[in-house]
Amino acid sequence: MRCAIAHYHELALKGHNRDYFEQSLITNIRTALKDLGIRQVQNLHSRIRIDLPVEADVELIRDRLVRVCGIANFSLGRVIPLQLGNPDLEALSTAAIAELNSKSFETFRVTAKRADKRLAMTSMDIEKAVGAVICEKTGKNVSLRHPDLTVYIELLTKDAFCSAEKVEGPGGMPTGVSGNVACLTSGGIDSPVAAYRMIKRGCLATFVHFSGRPLVSRASEEKVRDLVQTLTQYQYLSRLYVVPFGEIQREIVLTAPAPFRIVLYRRMMIRITEELARRENCWALVTGDSLGQVASQTPQNICAIEDAAELPILRPLIGMDKREIIDEARRLGTYETSIEPDQDCCKLFVPPHPSTKTRLDDVLRIERMLDIASLVKRGVEQAELTELSFPPSTT
Ligand code: ATP
Ligand code: MG
Repeated sequence: MRCAIAHYHELALKGHNRDYFEQSLITNIRTALKDLGIRQVQNLHSRIRIDLPVEADVELIRDRLVRVCGIANFSLGRVIPLQLGNPDLEALSTAAIAELNSKSFETFRVTAKRADKRLAMTSMDIEKAVGAVICEKTGKNVSLRHPDLTVYIELLTKDAFCSAEKVEGPGGMPTGVSGNVACLTSGGIDSPVAAYRMIKRGCLATFVHFSGRPLVSRASEEKVRDLVQTLTQYQYLSRLYVVPFGEIQREIVLTAPAPFRIVLYRRMMIRITEELARRENCWALVTGDSLGQVASQTPQNICAIEDAAELPILRPLIGMDKREIIDEARRLGTYETSIEPDQDCCKLFVPPHPSTKTRLDDVLRIERMLDIASLVKRGVEQAELTELSFPPSTT
């Protein structure tokens, strides 16, 4: 029978947390594969076994599992039943050769593991025996140190699993185990990567985007929706709030000298996001700030912006270089969307050289001239909510 085995890192997982982690991972795997006719997903001795129907689209399953957070690595292969607690070596070797069929290689090795240590044969016995049969039947050679290819065998309680691949998953923790966070998402390169970083640590991201509407077009909103759809592949169900921010910016512009506008916009974004965050049971806000990258991300400006928040602001990219962020965006598949041109609301009415050393005193003095509460209220009331889901439903 065709089957996949997924492994997760168990470090730091103890007691109750461990059950919760495993249960969430299983639920997430079921969701990720829900339209693909999967029969059974179960936890077996610190690995997860996924039984696949004969007609399963292996490429599609690989493509889904590679995005399930919490999976360290997985293998697609097949299982054969044990006979009186031992593998039928002939059958196991035949299964291994079938797995090798489509691969090109000159040298190989067999790596066996016993999930259930009560079995009679040792891992080494099995490696030697299966290796010998593969040598004989394929004419290929064993290389223990530098094989072109490895055959993985895992002895489970009632079956032996074999595979000729090991695919890396994202690692991290299953989405949902670390609570909800509200991600400030522009159409840029950084914020989608920041959201992904938190999703990978087990958070469920709610996305909040500020659009320059009605002063600019909806282009940025469509970009953000595409970006959120890409990220939804990692968390299955996303909520996106789009806040029309143009009018609020116009109010700020009437009062604030140009150099302060960026910090004032950001503080308003933080406050509005915080209101939405409370509604969504979020424990933190997330931004794509990277230290010193642009004017709003200098030490002084970060402090002046942070002051407007009550919830913690997480900045998972703070220590990353642009290069590293771009590489990650490419891997995620958000980069191509992020670089499409749009009209970012932050560019409205800001001078080419905004203040990089904004003093909180100055900001607070300007804000006293604004009716902050009513601007926040307006933003929250006008926020439009969209839900996005993955995989596409089959009904
Ligand atoms: P990004 O690539 O994420 O746009 P950036 O390098 O362009 O980041 P800024 O434009 O200063 O830097 O934005 C810093 C952070 O502020 C963003 O990562 C995002 O979290 C938040 N932010 C900026 N603009 C918006 C917006 N229009 N809507 C929601 N969040 C925003
Ligand atoms: Mg930006």
